[in-house]
Amino acid sequence: MKIMVAIKRVVDYAVKIRVKSDKSGVETSNVKMSMNPFCEIGLEEALRIKESGLASEVIAVSMGPSQCVDTLRTGLAMGADRAIHVEASATLYPLSVAKLLKALVDVEKPGLLILGKQAIDDDCNQTGQMVAGLLNWPQGTFASKVVLDKEKEVATVEREVDGGLETLCLDLPAVITTDLRLNQPRYATLPNIMKAKSKVIKKFTPQELNVDIKSDLEVQGVIVSSVDELIDKLKNEAHVI
Ligand code: AMP
Repeated sequence: MKIMVAIKRVVDYAVKIRVKSDKSGVETSNVKMSMNPFCEIGLEEALRIKESGLASEVIAVSMGPSQCVDTLRTGLAMGADRAIHVEASATLYPLSVAKLLKALVDVEKPGLLILGKQAIDDDCNQTGQMVAGLLNWPQGTFASKVVLDKEKEVATVEREVDGGLETLCLDLPAVITTDLRLNQPRYATLPNIMKAKSKVIKKFTPQELNVDIKSDLEVQGVIVSSVDELIDKLKNEAHVI
């Protein structure tokens, strides 16, 4: 069984975030970028599953600008067998990433897709749920423990919920998103960092995967001039109150 892990390049967790001078977003030039911490936990879990003999290959995937290759190299140095980069310069929202992941799953056919529960730059916490919906796969989000049964093709996932812990049994293939307490990711060793430099990273474009990434967040609306007008529209046009 292959395991695919989605890893995102984000502003390093220790960096103090600065807003761009034109207020259009977060400053990312000349800022230390790293692998999203929840994705590191996801990759660590995939590596542990492989090391216990329950998976044959770990594939790290990342979507975004050319610098994502650095993050993928870190993933390869940690122990991923292969890496795939979907190069896209446009801003990628969770639905676009989920569509790209689904396309990669259709190509690679992994038995398990692991993501972080959220990316620490946008804090969306949406991509795992969306890709599970698109794939029509069961999902175990906020996982704090994962146990695989290869014979029965089932993953038992303990997940952190508001009231405590919930245990789910998921038929494989499935989507899992990682929470903080799942594991403590390893550091890449120097020899593995050197070896990772020569590993080939496969590239795709969104077009090659037949994914249109432009139209996700088009919101149509009107600006109303007063609260009274808003209430009138909600009552008489949208009929929601
Ligand atoms: P989000 O829904 O944006 O909070 O992200 C949740 C998880 O989706 C991340 O921890 C990653 O595993 C995955 N993800 C989101 N964006 C990307 C990306 N551009 N490349 C790879 N994985 C991503």
